Amino acid sequence: MIEKMVIANRGEIALRILRACKELDIKTVAIHSKIDRDLKHVRLADETVCIGPNPSTDSYLNIPAIISAMEVTDSIAVHPGYGFLAENADFAEQVQKSGFIFIGPDADVIRLMGDKVSAIEAMKKAGVPTVPGSDGPLPENKENCLEIARHIGYPVIIKAASGGGGRGMRVVHTESALINSIHVTKAEAGAAFGDDTVYMEKFLQNPRHVEVQVLSDGQNNAIHLGDRDCSLQRRHQKVIEEAPAPHIPDNIRQEVYDACIKACIDINYRGAGTFEFLYEDGRFYFIEMNTRIQVEHPVSEMVTGVDLIKEQIRVCVGEKLNIRQNDIKITGHAFECRINAEDPKTFMPCSGIVKTYHPPGGLGIRVDSHLYCGYQVPPNYDSMIAKVITYGEDRETALRRMRSALDEMVIHGIRTNIELQQELVRDPVFTKGGMNIHYLEKKLEL
Ligand code: ADP
Repeated sequence: MIEKMVIANRGEIALRILRACKELDIKTVAIHSKIDRDLKHVRLADETVCIGPNPSTDSYLNIPAIISAMEVTDSIAVHPGYGFLAENADFAEQVQKSGFIFIGPDADVIRLMGDKVSAIEAMKKAGVPTVPGSDGPLPENKENCLEIARHIGYPVIIKAASGGGGRGMRVVHTESALINSIHVTKAEAGAAFGDDTVYMEKFLQNPRHVEVQVLSDGQNNAIHLGDRDCSLQRRHQKVIEEAPAPHIPDNIRQEVYDACIKACIDINYRGAGTFEFLYEDGRFYFIEMNTRIQVEHPVSEMVTGVDLIKEQIRVCVGEKLNIRQNDIKITGHAFECRINAEDPKTFMPCSGIVKTYHPPGGLGIRVDSHLYCGYQVPPNYDSMIAKVITYGEDRETALRRMRSALDEMVIHGIRTNIELQQELVRDPVFTKGGMNIHYLEKKLEL
């Protein structure tokens, strides 16, 4: 195993990575912005380097500063976590060119999957089901665009090839609005992403968000670790996730798992990855691949017993995947509630000092959080401060545990969304499971 690794992230995921490194006997270097010097993982790391001022552009997104930190600490590898530089192909490339290991796939694989048009093409080749669409960028010719939309059938959605974070998309309901919508999306995409390539897809009206977790070693070995349902979302941000996705027939799951594994082998994928799908009327439709560890990975860990971060590190430093598909047994059910420091009414992120912190505990309850009493939540970064994860032998047990875990949790000093989560895990539709991606926003509007 490698000797030392830089953790190029902050908050709960940095702590999660640090814990995995300890178990693997890897020394850790926490890099942090000025305000983050009191983060829990910074206190626990073997070495720390302050890489810049508070704005993430000057610190967590500052590639030369991170590479310098690797050099001065004699680190071998860097784990990007999620967000920040985790899916930045230029970062992965510069890390490798500087002689270090990037915990993730090769830069060209990140690029291939980062462009939605090339990603969809690669998926189709592997037999992964995709949304009926334009099969590539939209042509210049208006008549051809109208013809493509007629063929797909309205409503359609125009999407930027380089889009991300729910931006660069526009739904079109009628033919008269099509050409103008293409122009507007193109202009927005050019301005926001520096690439005005757009494509067209059928707009699915009431889909669920279901995703498949994979591990692959880039040496022709790939496995899946089942699926997750992340349909409970607000403004494209997931709020509660669960594994496995409820009410999906096993044969339909199996088909999509097989295709994802084939895709991993085809693109020579290395690391942990997620294939995101929309699921409607018993069918899966690929929308994108995330070439990194995800926030919601713990629910898959709970139902498989696999430490995804440890396995991700192992395969990315060059080891062969030592878990076979037959070793993976999905047992029981798990939920994850994201706890955010935010105003419960306006959802505006808020900061402040944590005066009281009592995380819940007990059998089947896990809390991934960097909070401690006296910690000051800074205003500069993402508002997620904890993930409450529960496991049970079945969905109902896991859900009951989540209700009591949330009731036990106490955070004073900052506003949080705990009350909203308490309400959601008692919602009758959520309790049944299988709601679509619009459910939460509709509920909040009432
Ligand atoms: P991003 O990279 O910005 O997250 P995605 O392609 O993953 O973009 O899409 C984000 C969200 O937009 C999806 O989770 C879904 O809610 C919606 N969406 C995207 N494509 C479609 C589609 N073809 N039909 C319906 N909704 C879609």
